[in-house]
Amino acid sequence: MNRREYLQALLAMITAAATGPAGASDRKTKARDLSGTTVIVIGAGLSGLAAARNLHRRGATVTVLEARDRIGGRTWTSTLWPDLPLDMGASWIHGTTGNPLTTLAEANDVRLLPTNYERSQAYTARGNRVGASTEQELARLREALEDQLELAADAETDQSVRQVVDDLIEKLDADSDTIRLLEFVVNSSLEQEYAGSAESLSCYWLDDDGFDGPDALLSTGFRAIIRDLASELNILRTGRSNRGLANHHCDGEDRRSTVQRRPRRRDLAARCAQVGTRAF
Ligand SMILES: Cc1cc2nc3c(=O)[nH]c(=O)nc-3n(C[C@H](O)[C@H](O)[C@H](O)COP(=O)(O)OP(=O)(O)OC[C@H]3O[C@@H](n4cnc5c(N)ncnc54)[C@H](O)[C@@H]3O)c2cc1C
Repeated sequence: MNRREYLQALLAMITAAATGPAGASDRKTKARDLSGTTVIVIGAGLSGLAAARNLHRRGATVTVLEARDRIGGRTWTSTLWPDLPLDMGASWIHGTTGNPLTTLAEANDVRLLPTNYERSQAYTARGNRVGASTEQELARLREALEDQLELAADAETDQSVRQVVDDLIEKLDADSDTIRLLEFVVNSSLEQEYAGSAESLSCYWLDDDGFDGPDALLSTGFRAIIRDLASELNILRTGRSNRGLANHHCDGEDRRSTVQRRPRRRDLAARCAQVGTRAF
């Protein structure tokens, strides 16, 4: 499965979780009944929960293993101010048209609050508004970086975002001011968004295809969606990373398995399920 196919499969999974089997008219989501199959999904973020719910609704017996003491992964809604839920991780539905997250929000009576990125205003660390010429320079660098990342996404071998940034610095023969602005672009639009350093981000796995429509915040925060996805599921918060399972091999026919920390055999069979999420 190549990257594009993987992303399409992931989207189909979230769509199926959003619409449920009854609403799943797409051929891919009308997959066979999984009654009698046991599945372990690793990670209770949006992807794991959406995959788990889809499998559960298709009849599989699903257990989700989550390393942290909370679910939601990179989404986390703070309720410190009870009347103002505040998302500390993912906050926006980027492009609400046809987005399965919009379907999930609507199913949970969550109000969408459209915002306009064009009207955002940047400030320096000293609290001064960033001037028009700096804004223009930031836009130029953002565009140059996006072009390079797009090329890297289609390259023969994968590269880290850091490699692409370093190449761009060299290509632009950038001075220290330009490098500072470029690093700001990298940090604010990639490292914070994906919660990883430029060194650890793969160009193959950056998002490429987006949705149309405005960006919108959720009146309840992402919490309502996470809660809904989790509501039918058996989730074990293990308090440790379940990496042993990631070394599991599944050889299709007789489903023999090898793992480092050996769970019971019937649990191992679960890892052979068609869509089981590997350790991230
Ligand atoms: C600050 C920030 C802002 C963002 N803003 C937006 C935004 O506005 N809009 C948007 O669409 N996206 C945004 N994103 C990105 C979005 O949060 C992620 O794309 C999305 O949440 C990823 O979901 P996931 O389930 O794939 O991964 P994750 O949310 O990372 O979930 C993975 C889960 O698996 C668990 N796990 C990992 N390894 C193991 C293991 N070995 N054993 C057991 N459990 C394991 C983790 O603890 C985690 O709970 C933002 C991200 C961040 C960090």
